[in-house]
Amino acid sequence: MTDKKIGKYTVKIIREKCIGAASCTAIAPGVFELDEEQIARIISQQGNDDETKLLAAQSCPTAAVIVVDNESGDQVWPIISK
Ligand code: SF4
Repeated sequence: MTDKKIGKYTVKIIREKCIGAASCTAIAPGVFELDEEQIARIISQQGNDDETKLLAAQSCPTAAVIVVDNESGDQVWPIISK
């Protein structure tokens, strides 16, 4: 396994949860934008680095952004308590 992989995390938006607060777009403008309904959408998974994508997800007040690890398939954010 190489650790030089680009785009280790994939982000997803739960549209029903998004309130258009735009924190994600402020932190990772290369990945997120608001659509015509003021709901976030993904413009590119490669628009910002993984750390920035995670920070953007963590900034969402409604936890509408999910972060998944591409290799393990595990959800990285929001943290699921088991
Ligand atoms: S931070 Fe959350 S609520 Fe705000 S636009 Fe992004 S996904 Fe929507």
